[in-house]
Amino acid sequence: MTAARTPLIAGNWKMYKTEREAEDYIQALLPRVSSIDGADVAVCVPFTDLRAMVDSARGSRVEVYAQNMHHEPEGAFTGEVSPLMLSDVGAQGVVLGHSERREQFGETDRALALKVPAALAAGLTPILCVGETESERENEDTDRKLRQQIKDDLVNVPSERLTDVVIAYEPIWAIGTGKVATPEQAQEAIAFIRALVGDRDAQAAQGVRILYGGSVKADNAAELLALPDVDGALVGGASLQADSFAQIVGAAAAR
Ligand code: PEP
Repeated sequence: MTAARTPLIAGNWKMYKTEREAEDYIQALLPRVSSIDGADVAVCVPFTDLRAMVDSARGSRVEVYAQNMHHEPEGAFTGEVSPLMLSDVGAQGVVLGHSERREQFGETDRALALKVPAALAAGLTPILCVGETESERENEDTDRKLRQQIKDDLVNVPSERLTDVVIAYEPIWAIGTGKVATPEQAQEAIAFIRALVGDRDAQAAQGVRILYGGSVKADNAAELLALPDVDGALVGGASLQADSFAQIVGAAAAR
């Protein structure tokens, strides 16, 4: 890793935490991470927690991200939330293309090709999730899948903005399963993604942050975060407790 890439530890809360629970969490998290230097920290929260978390995290090192958005600024899209609405509420970023959204809610690469630049245009940091299924890995189809997702999802992002995107490599078989990728698998896939970005722009490849996600816990984080191409982690289950999430942030800062 080059000195220019500050690691990012992002917690994906998924559909957990009422506003009251979120408030308790952030009050527990802030003192635990306030003196940890050398890592950026984000919590990716349900829409209903955004306002309260933005207010409570203001002035701290913790950024607040959403977990999805529509690409249009407004319109007749019942049930959707726009990039403008997210930036207006004070969110600093948004998770896009999480495998749970791709698999359970029909999120397509075509939609992501619109969402990623729309997030950037609204001043949000997109965390674009990519990754292969278990059968794709078994069939040695991982590289093809990653190549296709990176190409299709970033097609409308100009080269000079590629470093404003965060990419999360999340092998689907490792999400919420307790089956973590080996350090070799994580490094190989993430170096491959970096090379794909390099096919677009060599300088962007050096600057773009690529996270690993999939069953990251306090006790395996240090090994994964020490890998040369791994610039942080997208953490699901282990981000729901302030203590374990803060330990992962500490591991990133200590690398
Ligand atoms: C995720 O939700 O992006 C994730 C990686 O979940 P977990 O850490 O629970 O595997």
